[in-house]
Amino acid sequence: MKITLGGVRGTSSMARSEFMRYGGETTSVLVQGRAGETVILDAGTGIRALGESWGAEPPREVLLLLTHYHLDHIVGWPSFSLLYRKGVAIRVASSLTDGPAVESILSQLMKQPFWPVQMDSVQAAVTFEKTPATFGRLRISSCPVHHPGGCVAYRLDEPATGASVVFATDIEWSVSSPEEQERFLAFCRQPAPCRLLLFDGHYSRATYPAFKGWGHSTWEEAVEVARKAGAGQLLVIHHAPDSRDEYLERLDRRLLAAYPGSSLARDGMEVEL
Ligand SMILES: [Zn+2]
Ligand SMILES: [Zn+2]
Repeated sequence: MKITLGGVRGTSSMARSEFMRYGGETTSVLVQGRAGETVILDAGTGIRALGESWGAEPPREVLLLLTHYHLDHIVGWPSFSLLYRKGVAIRVASSLTDGPAVESILSQLMKQPFWPVQMDSVQAAVTFEKTPATFGRLRISSCPVHHPGGCVAYRLDEPATGASVVFATDIEWSVSSPEEQERFLAFCRQPAPCRLLLFDGHYSRATYPAFKGWGHSTWEEAVEVARKAGAGQLLVIHHAPDSRDEYLERLDRRLLAAYPGSSLARDGMEVEL
């Protein structure tokens, strides 16, 4: 299993030079299975770079899983280049049960006055479905997490290699109930502790108090969760839009000292499991 980070910035994309070492694209992560499966988690602005990474040979089938519909996680959808490629099947699903269906949300984004090309005139074959339990040889599971308006975490397991990844963006740990916390930790631990945990570290212990209830965790909580879950490796994601590279580099050193094998996520980073 190979994981490629197309976008790791939270809330809004950042395009200035002092944000470029960690990257300014919003959340989108590619997971590729050993048997050729292509899964994309969330459609932030980072999905554009992921879509272009295949060049002339795009995958025939892509499964896009959405955690929730806050703009930073879907805004890249209309510019996902595979939408405009013939012969590509894009299956879209979300385990989020609250609110409108994923189909109406994404179609809305491509309606006038928001976008010139409508959903029914793209070249790819786009279909919507419930989150499948398997995709190729990958197993897929999900877990609701505490976030305003709802959000889900996904877990992908590859039994053939023992690889597993948990993707938990947009989760507010400190106000999650004990039941919600236990449910999430069990999700990370079963059937075996996840090899890689991507977890929301939008804030720090110092910056969080002013933003309680806004839906995000601190990097210190990401470490606590990784420890409790027994995660092999931790990548902290959803960096605050005002966190510049210099600040994130200092944080990265503290994070590594706190949990060996951990780091802040960067655009373009690849992890082979
Ligand atoms: Zn977000
Ligand atoms: Zn959100």
